[in-house]
Amino acid sequence: MKAAVWHGVKDVQVEDVLEPSPAKGWVKIKVKQCSICGTDLHEYRNGPVMLAARPHPVTGRQVPLTLGHEFSGDIVELGEGVTGLKVGDRVTVNPLIVCGTCWWCRRAIWNECARLATIGLAWDGAFAEYVTAPDYGCYKLPDTLSYEAAALTEPFAVTVRAAKRGEIKPGDSVAIIGAGPIGLLTLEAVKAAGATQIFVIEPVASRCEVAMKLGATATFDPTKVDPGREIGKLTEGRRADVAFECVGGPHAGLTLGTALAVSRRAGRIVMVGVPAAKGVEFDFFRLFLHEKQISAVQGYVDEFPAAISLLAGGRVDTNTIITSKIKLDRIVPDGFESLIGEPEKNIKIIVSPE
Ligand SMILES: [Zn+2]
Ligand SMILES: [Zn+2]
Repeated sequence: MKAAVWHGVKDVQVEDVLEPSPAKGWVKIKVKQCSICGTDLHEYRNGPVMLAARPHPVTGRQVPLTLGHEFSGDIVELGEGVTGLKVGDRVTVNPLIVCGTCWWCRRAIWNECARLATIGLAWDGAFAEYVTAPDYGCYKLPDTLSYEAAALTEPFAVTVRAAKRGEIKPGDSVAIIGAGPIGLLTLEAVKAAGATQIFVIEPVASRCEVAMKLGATATFDPTKVDPGREIGKLTEGRRADVAFECVGGPHAGLTLGTALAVSRRAGRIVMVGVPAAKGVEFDFFRLFLHEKQISAVQGYVDEFPAAISLLAGGRVDTNTIITSKIKLDRIVPDGFESLIGEPEKNIKIIVSPE
């Protein structure tokens, strides 16, 4: 079968590999759609970052590995002992592979498993014709949910968790920093959670337009205006109840500073973007004197059912967020390179192996 295998920096090759077969408690899935994540892009450009560079303690696997962890498909084979799923089921998959025995697993804090592995990072992923996954990660798709939209379940689950971490309540005002895929999905998640005023801070004009289309109240280019002051004008001087940092990367200190500036006193901040630097500098007084709460989001624990339900109910404008649909053979030029070269044109690109 064909698979997009990561061999090294800027060296992902679509090549023929052996078709996987499911182990005990696992299933084999024929992949229909797999979405390109910022993580995949990061691995393509700078990897191995989260890719297993050494044999993973749970999976035993290391690079070269097939990327892809945001996917949907059909179950085509059941491993020994699998119940509750059958051949032909349309599914999306929580890609976390957990050890099941550590302190965190015993308390169902799956995303903090001490030996956490992820399909597409420490196990062959879904930029391939077939992928295998543990049965506990599989979620059946309602008939109203397309494979395309279902390929956004994984990133959307992250943002559903972000809304929960931010304790969004009906009527809350929200500031979202960054209108990339995660920022825009956060917009949908907080909207579903009842946020009424949603301010988006983003320098790229085309992404601001998309945010407005998805229901943002206003957008601000932080290179031109002071977003804290602007949001203050629209919130009786208070600023946003909750700020979501959805940028990450090497400048997470800067965007954390923005989150501190645009959130109100005694407000909440949720760090959703994946940082690329350990040490960051920010105004500690803004945190301390205004008693703000900062939390972070690392994947998901039990957010897949809610994410699927919202997607199936048409509560997420996936047609606007998916900007391109490509074939697996073209994943490097039309996927990774296109996302790097034209960030203003692309949001989510989904890949089909068919
Ligand atoms: Zn992802
Ligand atoms: Zn564990």
